[in-house]
Amino acid sequence: MKCIVCKHGHTKPGRMTSTLERGEATIVVKDVPAEICDNCGEAYLSEAVSVQLLEQAEAGIAAGVEFDVRRYQTAA
Ligand SMILES: [Zn+2]
Repeated sequence: MKCIVCKHGHTKPGRMTSTLERGEATIVVKDVPAEICDNCGEAYLSEAVSVQLLEQAEAGIAAGVEFDVRRYQTAA
């Protein structure tokens, strides 16, 4: 699809790193599947991936971690 941020690039399937902050906690999730703009680098997540990402980050926060780097887990 065409990038809506720079309006020039086109998105290609790739991987990105997402950082989520909640209060004192910072969760970094690597290898998140996304559509990435080949011009500006903007990453677009599908709704299913966004939900998964949030769930995984919330699980880390619920476990009481303050800083965690994890790899995105694809839903079974
Ligand atoms: Zn772009």
